[in-house]
Amino acid sequence: MQKTLTTNATHTELKAMAIATIDEQTNRIVELSREIQRNPEVGFREHGTAQRLVEQLEHMGLDYRTGLARTGVKARMRGRSDRFTVAILGELDSVITPDHPLADPDTGAAHACGHHIEIAAMIGAALGLQAVMEHLDGDVVLFGVPAEELIDVDWRLSLRDAGELEFVCGKPELIRLGEFDDIDLGMITHPGTSGQESLFEMDHSWLGAILKKVRFHGLTAHAGENPHEGINALKALTLAMTAIDSQQETYRDEDSIRVSQLVVNSGDMVSTIPGTTDLEVMIRGRSVEAMQDASAKIDRSMHAGAIAVGARVEIDTVVGCFPFAQDEPLVEVVDANARTLFGDSEIDSHAGAHGASTDSGDLQMLMPMVLPIVRSGCDGLIHSKDYQIDDHVLTAVNNAKLLASSVIDLLCDGAANAASVIDRSGPKLTRDEYLTIRRSMETKKTFG
Ligand SMILES: [Zn+2]
Repeated sequence: MQKTLTTNATHTELKAMAIATIDEQTNRIVELSREIQRNPEVGFREHGTAQRLVEQLEHMGLDYRTGLARTGVKARMRGRSDRFTVAILGELDSVITPDHPLADPDTGAAHACGHHIEIAAMIGAALGLQAVMEHLDGDVVLFGVPAEELIDVDWRLSLRDAGELEFVCGKPELIRLGEFDDIDLGMITHPGTSGQESLFEMDHSWLGAILKKVRFHGLTAHAGENPHEGINALKALTLAMTAIDSQQETYRDEDSIRVSQLVVNSGDMVSTIPGTTDLEVMIRGRSVEAMQDASAKIDRSMHAGAIAVGARVEIDTVVGCFPFAQDEPLVEVVDANARTLFGDSEIDSHAGAHGASTDSGDLQMLMPMVLPIVRSGCDGLIHSKDYQIDDHVLTAVNNAKLLASSVIDLLCDGAANAASVIDRSGPKLTRDEYLTIRRSMETKKTFG
């Protein structure tokens, strides 16, 4: 392998240099992935994970900023000119899966969504790119981002109500803070679920998600002695749930509306008419418009339950994330690199629709985004106690090579490919436009 590059090195030579560097750093990448896997932390509390990322950035001699949206870490590698900036993102957080064998015994946190490989892949790609940055016509931002998972919501809402956050997921909060204003394109990877034949999955879509925290207020009374004096908040809740189910036939198949419900509090004891009950409702959908439509129907259903029994209902609506559909021109760049690196038979180019959600959807409203999923090297169902990354080379190291090669294609030769992707991906929202839409969907309503 050549160790120096001429000033007019081709993109093929730049990729070969980056990949050789990544191969040399395999142990560092694998160990980072394992170390984060062994020390899971949930969103907006990933202080140890952020510190591990900082140690890698210091090892690379990069300047960085920390504490962005509480725990985010951001560094910039400079090219020979700064025409465009590509961000490689890595999510810092884990999920909560207390019965996972690697779960933190105190918090129940576990990397049952495999985000540890994202951080390792980001650093691996950065190590490879650092060897060729002086030949690229753009910058690369490395961004460890907090709180992709929509969990721990009550605590996050307490932070919101205390003015420490506005949004309950990491990327929307970082957008609000202006931390993506200096970025033109975004790339992030994710591990997948086992049992699929090809190594990488491209061009899939994800659903957006809205969460409603609902509280019904009735009036307590003795359930045997004087129930006629009470207002049964549990009856209001069950009527509301029936009304939610009655909306099902109004949703179009192509909008993929899914409504999940959880009774969090059904009252205190059976001998008392329940005075207060709590319900959580999650709405998922494939477009913002469909989510807004479903959100209004759920509010009506809550209202119906409340007025039927003379109760009052409070609805706190929080947007988790917007739907994610990847930008085809950017997918084409990554797909072509995956085929070159791993072979045509290992790439599923049109993987289709996922039922899960990610806040990369919010970023995709502002800039071209791509999210290749690596399927091999993972075992078990994602978010389950059995989910494990059992091969950190197939997952983290292969992803590092894919990210580095794709960035080189975007930023070499005057960053012509980056310009083409931005041009072909079509119009995007400004930060203010995005914030206006998101804020219009985050409401507090009271009926009754
Ligand atoms: Zn995930």
